[in-house]
Amino acid sequence: MTEEIKIPQKHPRTESLRIRERLIKNFKSGVVASAGLIAHGRGEAFDYILGEKTTQPALKAIEAAAAILLTAEHPVISVNGNAAALASKDIVELSKITKAKIEVNLFYRSSEREIAIKRVLEEVGATKVLGVGEAASARISEVGSERRRVDSKGILIADVVLVPLEDGDRTEALVRMGKKVIAIDLNPLSRTAQFATITIVDNIVRAIPIFIEIIDKLKTKDKKKLEHIASTFDNKRTLGEVIDLIHRRLSELAEKGVYLPILEVEEL
Ligand code: ATP
Repeated sequence: MTEEIKIPQKHPRTESLRIRERLIKNFKSGVVASAGLIAHGRGEAFDYILGEKTTQPALKAIEAAAAILLTAEHPVISVNGNAAALASKDIVELSKITKAKIEVNLFYRSSEREIAIKRVLEEVGATKVLGVGEAASARISEVGSERRRVDSKGILIADVVLVPLEDGDRTEALVRMGKKVIAIDLNPLSRTAQFATITIVDNIVRAIPIFIEIIDKLKTKDKKKLEHIASTFDNKRTLGEVIDLIHRRLSELAEKGVYLPILEVEEL
């Protein structure tokens, strides 16, 4: 039985509560792992600090990511339970406009979860989903256990892999294999964010729709222009800009102390 919680429209975190509800629903249907709920909480904390909006450095990273996706030979979007629960429709659209393949790739692999994620993606228009069952029989040697399994038609041969909400070990392994890795991760300090070729520090629910818009603008540009955008992007500097933004925002808040419009006792 699913408990439907009514979220008041005026609640200051309406959107964030709706996202939580979506994750819980997908946890109950077997799409999201229990650890996925915890990982979401970690992301939320950073989103709160970032002001729950897409920042300039994130926009810059999305533009560079769009450029490398458009010039890739074998782009793949790696999808786990949280990504499917939060952004399945946008992921499918992104895969269509960039001709990127979609591969289910899980930290906590189980055939039930693989199938549940595949179903969620197919319900919103995916025609081919790699990495399910026997298809995920290739191995990436740098990673231990079940997390090393990939599809020989997908991540194994990919030159560019988009990994929304990935774990650090696998990101590092993919980079070591010579692949360009685009990460979407709200935590600029996570190992994924640090190891990726391009790190988009933003919430997946905001980042992918913007990604689609930018792809739409860039898709008519010639290859040289796209390569220029990609080659002039500096991930280290951009991560630094995000950390600086967090620093400045926290400093401003620290000066104010109380920043919400809370009434003084005598005004109540
Ligand atoms: P790492 O292994 O890379 O150091 P981690 O141990 O935090 O990171 P996980 O718990 O696998 O890795 O990660 C989930 C990551 O996804 C976290 O860094 C979290 O900030 C991020 N995250 C969670 N929810 C979202 C979201 N909605 N949008 C973007 N990032 C998110």
